[in-house]
Amino acid sequence: MKDKEVTFSSICEFFRQNKKGLLFIISGPSGVGKGTIRKEILQIFPELKYSVSANTRSPRKDEQEGIDYYFVTKEKFESMIRENKFAEWAIVHGEYKGTPIDFLIEQRKKGSDIILEIDVQGARQIKEKFPEGIFIFIAPPSWKDLVERLQKRGTETKKDLEKRLDDAFNEIKQIGNYDYIVINDELEMAVKEVESIIIAERCKVANYEIRNFRDRH
Ligand code: ADP
Ligand code: 5GP
Repeated sequence: MKDKEVTFSSICEFFRQNKKGLLFIISGPSGVGKGTIRKEILQIFPELKYSVSANTRSPRKDEQEGIDYYFVTKEKFESMIRENKFAEWAIVHGEYKGTPIDFLIEQRKKGSDIILEIDVQGARQIKEKFPEGIFIFIAPPSWKDLVERLQKRGTETKKDLEKRLDDAFNEIKQIGNYDYIVINDELEMAVKEVESIIIAERCKVANYEIRNFRDRH
C-alpha cells in the first residue's frame, strides 16, 4: 500500500509540474471591449502574463509606457522588424503594432500562461507560428453598440473612427479562424465567459505533458 501511495503522490506531483504554458489570444474589432475585458481578466488571474505590444501611435492620456504599450517611433519599429524582434506585426488602423518575440519565448520556457490582445491580422500570424494557441474573438452585440462604444470612448478623430469601423467590417468576417466567440453585451457576462475558457483550457488533459508522463510512469 505504501508503494502505491508513493507512486500515486509522485503522479499527482507530476501533473502539478507538467502543465504546458498556454497562449491565449484575444482579438476582435476596435471598441468592442477587448482592453476592458483583458484588464478584468488580469485582476482575476494575476499570474497570467500580458504580452505588451510595441506601437507607433501616441499614448492616450491614461496609457503608460511598458504597461499598456511600448511606444516607439516608426523608425525604431521598422528596425525591430528587420532584426526579427516580433512574433507578429501588422499595420492596424494606420499604425504599426507588434508582439515582441523575446517575451513570448522567455515566458513559454518558464511554462507561464500568456495573454495577447492583438488584431485579426496578428492573430492569423500567431496561429501559423503557435497553432496550439487558444484564439478568442470578442464580438459586439450589434453594429450600433460598436459605433456607440467607439464614440463614447472618444479617443479617435472622426476620420480615425471611420477607419476603425471600416476595418471592423472585414475583421468580423475572420471569425472562422478562432476557437471561441464571446459576445460582449453585458461586460460581467463577457468576462465570465473568458474566465471560463481559461479555466476549462487549463483543465484539458491535452494541455499537460502526458507524453513525458507515459515515458516516466
Ligand atoms: P477595445 O480595446 O476593443 O478597443 P475598449 O476596451 O477600449 O475596446 O472599450 C471601448 C469602450 O467600450 C470603452 O469606453 C469601454 O468602457 C466600453 N465598453 C467595454 N465593454 C462594454 C460593455 N460590455 N458595455 C458597454 N460599454 C462597454
Ligand atoms: P489601439 O490603438 O486602440 O490601442 O489598438 C488598435 C488595435 O490594435 C486593437 O485591435 C488591438 O488589439 C490591436 N493591437 C494591439 N497590439 C497589437 C499587436 O501587437 N499586434 C497586432 N497585430 N495588433 C495589435
